[in-house]
Amino acid sequence: MARIPELIDRKRRGERLERADLEALVLGYTRGAVPDYQLAAWLMAVCWRGLEPSELADLTGIMVDSGETLDLAALGGATVDKHSTGGVGDKTSLVVVPLLAACGAMVAKMSGRGLGFSGGTLDKLESISGLRTQLEPAQLLEQVRRIGLAIVGQSPRLAPADGKLYALRDVTATVESIPLIASSIMSKKLAGGAQVIVLDVKVGSGAFMTGFGEARALAEAMVGIGRAAGRQTCAYITEMDQPLGLAIGNAVEVAEAIETLRGGGPADLRHLALVLTGEALWRAGLQRDRAAGEAAAERALADGSGLQRLAALVHAQGGDERCVWEPERLPRAPLSATLAATRAGLIVRLDARRVARAALELGAGRERKEDQVDHGVGVLLAAKVGQRVERGQPLATLYARSEAALAQARALLEGAFQIAEAPVPLRPLIHWRSD
Ligand code: URA
Repeated sequence: MARIPELIDRKRRGERLERADLEALVLGYTRGAVPDYQLAAWLMAVCWRGLEPSELADLTGIMVDSGETLDLAALGGATVDKHSTGGVGDKTSLVVVPLLAACGAMVAKMSGRGLGFSGGTLDKLESISGLRTQLEPAQLLEQVRRIGLAIVGQSPRLAPADGKLYALRDVTATVESIPLIASSIMSKKLAGGAQVIVLDVKVGSGAFMTGFGEARALAEAMVGIGRAAGRQTCAYITEMDQPLGLAIGNAVEVAEAIETLRGGGPADLRHLALVLTGEALWRAGLQRDRAAGEAAAERALADGSGLQRLAALVHAQGGDERCVWEPERLPRAPLSATLAATRAGLIVRLDARRVARAALELGAGRERKEDQVDHGVGVLLAAKVGQRVERGQPLATLYARSEAALAQARALLEGAFQIAEAPVPLRPLIHWRSD
């Protein structure tokens, strides 16, 4: 077995490492036998040199095998997972997971919390009073067997090597590496046990990946890992230069997801949810093709069965189910202000990253892991890119706890909108889909 400095050196020179080499590095680090400085050097070499497909599959497999895995085969149904790389106003999972369950799939979804500009599904769900997101694996499986769905926090016992590596990447400027991001995300997806994995890679100012090229490289790397592990995996690249939907925050996003499950909601959120649900239903063998999958998802919106699945989830996880039927019960901060257009024209830009900064200023997200989120604050947009507005027309409403936060967030939000005379080409909602 090669010594660790030799393995670092080989990666530095761009050589491919074998599974045993990667085990020596990653499992050695997880056990405490390889120090931070050696693993950090190897991570930096990976940032520069990348990983070959076989290394990517091996590294991901090693991280999966470092901990427990969920045995969803025991559920005896079509198991599906959906993952977004994160964006601003991205509440798609809150619509897609109930739709999937209403259409016969089983979804044991593990989600993350928000950090920086990107919101987290768990924080949003926890706007519903009493709702628990920490379930033991046995409870999770029992709930999915009974009602078809669960959305819970990522168990630290799944892919623990990823948790350790991520903490080191965070402080060594090695997060932004496509193979490292791909293996990190996919290790948790594979450990989560679903047979079908639908990935939504966001692209634009409000996403991890701001350019199409890097988004596509990430999408392809993740699909390659999933397929090499024998899972039905596909990826979409979808728009995140402006926020998805109109609501950005926590409770406001839950309310928007509920509205969408009631058959209303913003057109972009509704369309994306139908497409992703249709894809998953087809890949899971529950519908004959994508179009039939989308039609089934539309029926679940129209007949209210998707909304009923969300209510069942809320009830099973100890939340106040009345919030689903009466969303006005969700928390809402007491102060509000409206941002109005300072001129007439067309909205040609609505910068998702700036909207996220405004929401952060209000307290809807976290800048550091230990920050508490405020579920009742947020932004409700009244206009989006491509829309014509008159001077004085409302562009957005902000909800805040203090006048100071309201003023600061309002100034940030003002800078997010660009209004001009001439139209610009509209970016598509769906940029790309894997085969
Ligand atoms: N999300 C993850 O889970 N891992 C990364 O490396 C980046 C984003």
